[in-house]
Amino acid sequence: MKKIFLTLCAALILSVNSFALAQELPFLDNFITWTENRDRLVEEYTLRHYGQIYHQIVPRAVVVHWTAMGTLESNRNFFNGEYRDDGTLNVASQFLVGRDGTVWRLMPETNFARHIIGYNHCAIGIENVGGYNNNEDLTEAQLEANVRLIKYLHEKYPTIKYVFGHYQQVEARVSGLYVEKVAGYYSIKSDPGPTFMRGLREQLEGDGLIFFEE
Ligand SMILES: [Zn+2]
Repeated sequence: MKKIFLTLCAALILSVNSFALAQELPFLDNFITWTENRDRLVEEYTLRHYGQIYHQIVPRAVVVHWTAMGTLESNRNFFNGEYRDDGTLNVASQFLVGRDGTVWRLMPETNFARHIIGYNHCAIGIENVGGYNNNEDLTEAQLEANVRLIKYLHEKYPTIKYVFGHYQQVEARVSGLYVEKVAGYYSIKSDPGPTFMRGLREQLEGDGLIFFEE
């Protein structure tokens, strides 16, 4: 009887703990498929562009994006494939945020993902669904979700010092984190726009996180 009681107690404590933990995590897991071929593509990419192979990263920055198209589901589908419709190869992001603020973790946080030239070896990516026709249309719910998520990441990985938007990739070079071995490999970006980055900066700056002027 005593043994049963103890077992019940242990089960109760475990379930309370996992419930509390689930409540605290600011995302849901909806992992994309990761194949051996994707690992091989990561090896090729990291060796070529960073001069060494990365499968895991030590996160030093969070980079914020918009998807410029689609829905939560369709963007997950894009990242789920090795190829995207626009022909880019093996792109991914650790997080994807829907317009209602739903956050999906698409892969383990410190797994290498290709989302920004020059910083993938040290940056966690957050993609926000929106930015249609290049409009700054990300929602208040997305801003709140990004704030919660970045707080969570910064607490978990004190190595994170920088938060910047994809369009701030040139300014962010003062961090010393930028590495690109292929000359001329560069693309101009506007995501996720200065309004969204200002919103994040106003709520998160200080506290050991560095932002750049919008
Ligand atoms: Zn981007």
